[in-house]
Amino acid sequence: MHYHGPIVRPQTDADSLFIELTVGCTHNSCTFCNFYHGYDFKIAPLSQVEEDLKEAAAVYPFARKIWASGGNPYCLPTEHLVKCGQLFSKYYPDVPVTTYARVDDLLRKSVEEMVQIRESGIHKLVVGIESGDDEVLAAVKKGYTAADILEGCGKLEKAGVPYRVIYLSGLAGHGKAHESAERTLKILNQLHPYMMILTTVALLPGTELYKDWREGRFEELTERERLDEFKVLMEGLQNPIEVFSATSTNSEPFWVRLPEERASIVDDLEGSIAAMTEEKEKLWAARRHRMTTV
Ligand code: SF4
Repeated sequence: MHYHGPIVRPQTDADSLFIELTVGCTHNSCTFCNFYHGYDFKIAPLSQVEEDLKEAAAVYPFARKIWASGGNPYCLPTEHLVKCGQLFSKYYPDVPVTTYARVDDLLRKSVEEMVQIRESGIHKLVVGIESGDDEVLAAVKKGYTAADILEGCGKLEKAGVPYRVIYLSGLAGHGKAHESAERTLKILNQLHPYMMILTTVALLPGTELYKDWREGRFEELTERERLDEFKVLMEGLQNPIEVFSATSTNSEPFWVRLPEERASIVDDLEGSIAAMTEEKEKLWAARRHRMTTV
């Protein structure tokens, strides 16, 4: 198998077969992210993809899902992605294949191209929107706007491509998260991702956000604020969705389906906010400050 960089995938996909499609990220500029520092963007040759699939199919024919690895493989030309999809279908005809896309990758593809890619064998996407608040998106240098999220994800919906979104709480900074989550709801309630991966930011050494924090330009949320930001989202998400938040940075792991479990998760979050002590605040801040990656 060929792996030339870190394999970054959501926790929900940790039990996948990993097949490298790209190394690194074409953007590599988000202020909170250090995943691909030191790695230039590279495309895995089709011959490598086929070799890895052939090897995997021989030793691990029972894979139940495949993660097409790379920071944002959906940036690749449609023709190339279709060839990769055909290889997945050849070696693992019944196995769902998922990969990462940036919002600007979605903007560059037509709905017809998205259909072609899905039909070839790359079935689902994970889109790290992080926020739907323009102020936050600009501050963390995401490279797109809330309107772009609506347009890009709207195209996926027209193409019938199932997708998850990642929301990264805490990016608005101390005192601003509640309103920022409300602004995000205005965007998300116009869309229909089947899942939200809900996580919270850790300040990772080597990132611009870490430097901003150390030099006093960014103030972290308290633990209570992080939980309140989650609560705003759990109360306000209107379309049916699963929310997965069992991530390494989060003090309140849960996996719920909305709207069915709304009352119970809101109740749990309210309980955790009420029970939050200064000692727990310090404990969680210290845990996140020890992290070098997530
Ligand atoms: S968060 Fe995603 S898009 Fe931003 S630099 Fe990291 S891998 Fe690239």
